[in-house]
Amino acid sequence: MAGDQPTGVKRAAIIRGDVTSTGIVLMVCAGALLLLAALKVVQGWIWLALAGVLVVAGLLMFRWGKARYSELIQAVVDAHGSEGPLRSPVAWVSDELWDQKNRFDPALDAPGILRAEVEPGYKAFGHDATGAFKEPVLRPVAPEERELAAEHEVAADLEVPPKGSKEDHIERILSTPGRFIALAPRWPICCGRLTTMVAIQEHLRPAGSMFLDATVRTEDSDPGMQQGIHSYACRACGRRYSTNPAW
Ligand SMILES: [Zn+2]
Repeated sequence: MAGDQPTGVKRAAIIRGDVTSTGIVLMVCAGALLLLAALKVVQGWIWLALAGVLVVAGLLMFRWGKARYSELIQAVVDAHGSEGPLRSPVAWVSDELWDQKNRFDPALDAPGILRAEVEPGYKAFGHDATGAFKEPVLRPVAPEERELAAEHEVAADLEVPPKGSKEDHIERILSTPGRFIALAPRWPICCGRLTTMVAIQEHLRPAGSMFLDATVRTEDSDPGMQQGIHSYACRACGRRYSTNPAW
């Protein structure tokens, strides 16, 4: 798209701060000239006039560059402001959790998105990111545990994760993109399928989910030793589970 080139180059110059830094260089040159004039290395009004022109030009470039950059950032923020909730690209992470962990962050994302517009090789943080989960451990739910877990209603339009081998499940978990990282999730397998992760919480588990591990912390646990708690829902049968990460 050769027609876009001039705009792209211009935006690149602005984004990289070329205009503002050129403005600073001009003002520094003006300062040096004034110093030389004060030391009488150069003489005559023409040098003072030149210094004056450099100061004004530098100041204008500096201010324009800054203002233009703010405008471009604001345009990115506005463009994302009206976006609806994000949808999870995989059936084993809920839309709510996905949205909570991948939501557009004006301070973090806007400059990156702007930069990505003019640098094709640059990926803004959170775009095409892979590896939301590290070192997953499968935790098959025993029939008696499944019986004890409370059943919840499952919305009919939810995609159910496919059945598969242990390796398939691990591969699916590892392929999950996202800009968050959950270490060593102990992932319940229920009804032969991956359950869907619905929450990552510091030390609380949602009401109505069954804790699968004996390592439940008590009130007087050392707060420094607290791990996260991951919560899951089986989209096939509606049971909910919580586990500690394997680490
Ligand atoms: Zn199930």
